[in-house]
Amino acid sequence: MHYIIHTFGCQMNVADAEVLAGHLETMGYSETTTEELADVILLITCCVREHAESKVYGKIGELYDLKQKRPEIILGVGGCMPQQADVASKLQQRFPYLDLVFGTHNLASFPDLLDQVRNSGSTVVEVLHGVGGITENMPRVRRDNLKAWVTIMYGCTNFCTYCIVPYVRGKEQSREMSAILTEICDLAERGYREVTLLGQNVNSYGTDLVAHPDFADLLQNIEQISGIERVRFMTSHPKDFSRKLIAVLASSKKICEHLHLPVQSGSNRILQAMNRGYSREHYIALVDEIRRSIPNTVLTTDIIVGFPGETAEDFEDTLNLVREIRFDAAFTFAYSPRSGTVAATWAEQLSKEEKKERLKRLNDSVNEIALERNKPLVDQIVEVLVEGPSKTDETMLTGRTRGNKLVHFPSDPSVIGKILAVKITRAQTWSLFALPVGMPR
Ligand code: SF4
Repeated sequence: MHYIIHTFGCQMNVADAEVLAGHLETMGYSETTTEELADVILLITCCVREHAESKVYGKIGELYDLKQKRPEIILGVGGCMPQQADVASKLQQRFPYLDLVFGTHNLASFPDLLDQVRNSGSTVVEVLHGVGGITENMPRVRRDNLKAWVTIMYGCTNFCTYCIVPYVRGKEQSREMSAILTEICDLAERGYREVTLLGQNVNSYGTDLVAHPDFADLLQNIEQISGIERVRFMTSHPKDFSRKLIAVLASSKKICEHLHLPVQSGSNRILQAMNRGYSREHYIALVDEIRRSIPNTVLTTDIIVGFPGETAEDFEDTLNLVREIRFDAAFTFAYSPRSGTVAATWAEQLSKEEKKERLKRLNDSVNEIALERNKPLVDQIVEVLVEGPSKTDETMLTGRTRGNKLVHFPSDPSVIGKILAVKITRAQTWSLFALPVGMPR
């Protein structure tokens, strides 16, 4: 018996897909990349943007022919889309050939749901909306044997007015610190060298736990785990980024000098309308303090253009902020109204053309600055964790710097999985080229 999981959206979905793969393999399935051979096909969906949803609808439609040819195949849709009001029933009506529809809170019960489909032969729909406790120790098939995702908390309670996540992932729930540390110790024993801690807002880790540990405490404990050499985390929220955390980052040997700190807008009026809980001035002061304490920090961000009511002046504020902060990279998006969120109901929606034009101007600035930030790295020696063959040139290998910059270099595959010193020879906007200069370790 074989399975395929198609994963859309963020790293939370990637982490959930690893757990579903774990359940499936425990039930006797093995992975295939050929849909014609699969007995179970799962789509783990994202509803954060309209584009992500359209891709899912397209994929379900594409699977219709396969289901006609092989009615015994089990097609399942999980993840964030079914958690939205009415979407599970709409999916069932529009695609009656789906066998299983389940939500983000149904991971632990997935084997039972799959058994129900296999035994009954009819469609099973189960989408839990209340947040239960966290289920630990679920089986998991990790997609990488070098770098691991470790979820430290689930959900979000911030309710940014454009964002669907709190409605589909529920309120913030932190994992007990002991469970996280046990998982990372186990990863270290199995040879993992890098962990990325995941949460919608890692900076508020622990506020819901009885002992109220905070994120800085968690990082200090992870620092002690031998074998783990690099620690990353995402996503940070500027309103909850504490001085204590900056001090821990500055003193750590393992936490990589890369921060993803979504700013979303450079206009105070828009930040307030977004319910982000900080001002442009707060963000700039925070970045100044981070850069003073950790001078070589690589800083990336998320920015939305065309939020309802965004004037030309608001957009100029965003462009000016980008030029002032000089991000290493930015994930930029045109605002897309999400049904169920506050901002989607507002009347002052911008036209597609306006959003497109602003997005292009923003991207031009972001790209120009990204290249300028990379150029001074030429001739510098940096350490990369070697990941494998380059996706763009199979004669090269790729690795990432501690700042998360992608580096291509010629070398022997025996260095894959090792940390290697390389000298940067050329800089492009989104990648660097280098030559090895040291022995791998
Ligand atoms: S912090 Fe805001 S943008 Fe991030 S997941 Fe929570 S509600 Fe969404």
